[in-house]
Amino acid sequence: MLEYRDIPMADKYDVIVIGAGPAGYHAAIRCAQLGLKTACIDKSLGVDGKPAYGGTCLNWGCIPSKALLDASHKLVEARDHFAEIGIKARNVGVDLEQMMKHKAAVVKKLTGGVAGLFKANGVDDLPGTGRLLSGRKVEYTDHDGKTRSLEGSSVILAPGSVPVEIEPTPLDGEYIVDSTGALELESVPKTLGVIGAGVIGLELGSVWSRLGSDVVVLEALDDFLPMVDRRIAGDALKSFRKQGLDIKLGTRVTGSAVKNKKVEVSYKDKDGDHSVKVDRLIVAVGRRPFTDGLLAPDCGVNLDERGFIYVNDLCETDAPGVYATGDVVRGPMLAHKGMEEGLMVAERIAGKKPMVNYDAVPCVIYTHPEVAWVGRTEEELKRSGDAFEVGSFPFAANGRAMSANDTEGLVKIVTDAETDRIVGVHILGPQASELIAQAVIAMEFSASAEDLALTMFAHPTLSESVHEAAMGVHGHSIHMANRKRKK
Ligand code: FAD
Ligand code: NAD
Repeated sequence: MLEYRDIPMADKYDVIVIGAGPAGYHAAIRCAQLGLKTACIDKSLGVDGKPAYGGTCLNWGCIPSKALLDASHKLVEARDHFAEIGIKARNVGVDLEQMMKHKAAVVKKLTGGVAGLFKANGVDDLPGTGRLLSGRKVEYTDHDGKTRSLEGSSVILAPGSVPVEIEPTPLDGEYIVDSTGALELESVPKTLGVIGAGVIGLELGSVWSRLGSDVVVLEALDDFLPMVDRRIAGDALKSFRKQGLDIKLGTRVTGSAVKNKKVEVSYKDKDGDHSVKVDRLIVAVGRRPFTDGLLAPDCGVNLDERGFIYVNDLCETDAPGVYATGDVVRGPMLAHKGMEEGLMVAERIAGKKPMVNYDAVPCVIYTHPEVAWVGRTEEELKRSGDAFEVGSFPFAANGRAMSANDTEGLVKIVTDAETDRIVGVHILGPQASELIAQAVIAMEFSASAEDLALTMFAHPTLSESVHEAAMGVHGHSIHMANRKRKK
């Protein structure tokens, strides 16, 4: 009997996908579900040297970072907060080796799961590198260097992104690391520097701070999380500083040197030149689209001025029948945004007509409290001159949050003043990553604040803060004094 890997590979496919990250593997599986003969090429290898599908997200991104965030959050709960609710927990400490084993096991299970899903759906998974030639031909090179030419009726490019490097802090993989290295530190550094107070800086800075590092975060901008609602960003900054993250805004890193097993980082701020010595330094200053070696000069696909593959709203590139999705194209670099684009493209290739609603992409920062938002902020609406209404509700007045001893933060709902339609929801608080889903659903269905206010929410739940914020838009919150007069 033929083994799966011995089955001869076809040279012609309905669809060839390059990249098996969230954008690529979702596209490939949906294409196969829709009856299209599909191949998916991916070059990633796991720590065991075997193909590891799932891209950045499963191997070095969303999943391993959340494994460490969840574990380190439990540590803080047990170490610092159990006593407040009457639980005695002695000798609570960190077993970093076990924590890393847990993280690796989750990653292995999920990357193996993608390989299993490919097999179950009949996707030909091709470990190795893909390069787009002209006329939707793809040159596939396996990990032994063997090359063959494939041809697709359609091609989907989903090669993802890689960390940005900056000249003052060249990575050495030991003392100065990027996000991938920051997920693999072998011991808890006594002191840790992080460059960039963005999503990765805050999430991984929180992990190592909770595990015991003194963390200093150097951020170039004067504003903290400029894309976030100002009230929520301000409250989050206070909370993170209280937890011990020494976040320095308005700092420009000018250089670094590794001496005596320490990294000396020099930076400038409005008061002049400074330096700080740390045991490890994480550089988290953004990611860039990854197209190295992907595009033959005559393939017909163009890049925009920032190096992203140029696509329209339907993820069509300039080359007919060639699509691009995920981090390599415009828009937020988020796994779920890539997944939706992958599904949309697959269904369009199969003749269906879905669209991605780019106005309802949820964003989450998995700190504690979590920050989550969807849609427009009050500040954006002010800038565009659109009339709006706001309702908000603090978790400090929510019975379930009080019961859980987790009351930091608030829910804020922003509506169009004329139609009452919800245009943005902004949350700082426990399980904000879960709560934001109901806001996304409400916005997808064009709900008004009144619609949400008239919806029944289970009691006692954190979700009731969303309900109360919706009631607050019209001055009808029950569990707090309303700033607006009741109508
Ligand atoms: P990728 O996941 O980068 O996958 C691309 C794949 O294509 C890779 O396997 C790559 O090796 C392969 N490839 C590239 N070129 C070729 C080629 N020529 N031939 C063959 N294969 C190729 N997002 C969230 O939404 N939530 C989170 O919580 C979150 N946490 C993150 C934490 C960290 C530390 C990091 C770094 C990122 C995080 N992200 C998160 C972002 C998320 O990982 C990305 O948005 C997502 O992985 C992008 O998916 P993608 O499919 O476009 O690309
Ligand atoms: P980011 O864009 O979120 O943050 C980078 C930060 O570094 C910014 O605040 C920027 O002002 C700052 N910066 C840039 N250059 C600097 C310099 N020279 N000195 C000091 N500060 C500097 O990027 P990131 O945190 O690296 O994350 C990359 C991408 O990965 C993001 O687009 C994000 O969407 C995605 N990601 C998402 C999640 C999530 O969804 N929870 C988690 C991690 C990563």
